[in-house]
Amino acid sequence: MKTIIGLEIHVELSTKSKIFCGCKVDFGGIANTRCCPVCLGMPGTLPVLNKKVVDYAVKAGLALNCNIAKESIMDRKNYFYPDLVKGYQITQYYSPLCQNGFVEIGEGKNKKEIGIKRIHIEEDTGKSLYNSQNITLLDYNRSGVPLIEIVTEPDLNSGEETKEFLESLRDILRYIGISDVKMEEGSLRCDVNINIEDEEKKTRSNITELKNLNSFKAVVSAIEFEENRHKLLLKEQKNTVKETRRWDEVEKQTQVMRLKDTEEDYRYFPEPDILRVVLSEEEINKIKEELPELPKDKKNRWLEEFKLPEYDIEVLTGSLELASFFEETLSYSNNPKKVSNWIMTELLRRLKECDVELSAVKLTPKNFGKLLNLINEGIISNSAGKKIFYEMFENGGKPEQIAQNKGLIQIDDMDAIEKVIKEVLHRNPQSIEDYKNGKDKAFGYLVGQSMKAFKGKGNPKLINKVLQKLLN
Ligand SMILES: [Zn+2]
Repeated sequence: MKTIIGLEIHVELSTKSKIFCGCKVDFGGIANTRCCPVCLGMPGTLPVLNKKVVDYAVKAGLALNCNIAKESIMDRKNYFYPDLVKGYQITQYYSPLCQNGFVEIGEGKNKKEIGIKRIHIEEDTGKSLYNSQNITLLDYNRSGVPLIEIVTEPDLNSGEETKEFLESLRDILRYIGISDVKMEEGSLRCDVNINIEDEEKKTRSNITELKNLNSFKAVVSAIEFEENRHKLLLKEQKNTVKETRRWDEVEKQTQVMRLKDTEEDYRYFPEPDILRVVLSEEEINKIKEELPELPKDKKNRWLEEFKLPEYDIEVLTGSLELASFFEETLSYSNNPKKVSNWIMTELLRRLKECDVELSAVKLTPKNFGKLLNLINEGIISNSAGKKIFYEMFENGGKPEQIAQNKGLIQIDDMDAIEKVIKEVLHRNPQSIEDYKNGKDKAFGYLVGQSMKAFKGKGNPKLINKVLQKLLN
């Protein structure tokens, strides 16, 4: 038995304004405050296509290895639903902007290409909200938010594989900066089409469409639930019903939403209010040049170049911002593992504690790199380094200067060190005796006393050296 899965993915584009009007694109806020006559479909208004939406969609198409149509049109999809205020959605049906791409997933022998059938642009609908009195409320803030719909070929064969594909897709879209791709906020939404093929008996179950999948975990759970349901029905020589089912997160099962005996007839026709979308070779090439290095390419290059553990690379390439911060730091402090360790422990911890984005922090890669150099050279201690790091994280500034101001530079004047240690020895004649009698503990004790005498500013390496010299 083989599972066959294809996906329809809606991605909200993070343009400043909506697809056909100047209303702001944002998440949350007071209902019905980001709408105008155009996105409310008032009679007499005309839509104007936002050029950024086309650019973003082309960017996605190129990153997903698609052919870009130099000419495409917008179409009207007619249906009634309260959240669709115009009574039709402007989308692309006959000629999508991007076609025939792929995303590579897996490593080595398990490498596999998942086909991208098409990517088209369209407008989002409003949102229906159901309150406790069973009243439906409508919020049109989302009405007219730009979307791309990505349709895959039925190339996926399991829940885990689907998750891997979605993670790759999300990383790519985030890297190229066209969406914040947050499933929990609905800026990445995924519908799953699934059926099972019995390869021996040459039978197939009918396709079920799965909706209401709000996390990658829900996608995997719903697919696995459906796999079993379809297999069981096929075994009993029954078939599944062509239907749309929703995932119930509480019951951990799928439930029927509606039957699909016939394909809905949307009476598509070319949108008369919008001209053709025309792109020149130069425009497409310009967008191509702006594409950053994609996550997979970056990971492979880093593995070669920096010889970092795969885990580090996974974490550091988690966002383009973090990846750039890491690479830029390396140009000031060329020790990949050390830089990686500091980012993965101190920096990421601090970002989480303060609940801020890296871009909002005053710490620069240059000063971060210089700080690590000061530690490596023994000019400041590791613990002093952490204090300086916290200071730079909050208020910016140069590490050398902060170290000076806070008196954190380690004393490395040999005469001064000898003087202090001589005093320590003078105060501890018994320990000297013990040391001479071969007690290692005594040496440790003297090191501790010396460190104390330097109030944490002593360079441990030098103290050890001087102490040994004086004792012998
Ligand atoms: Zn508007």
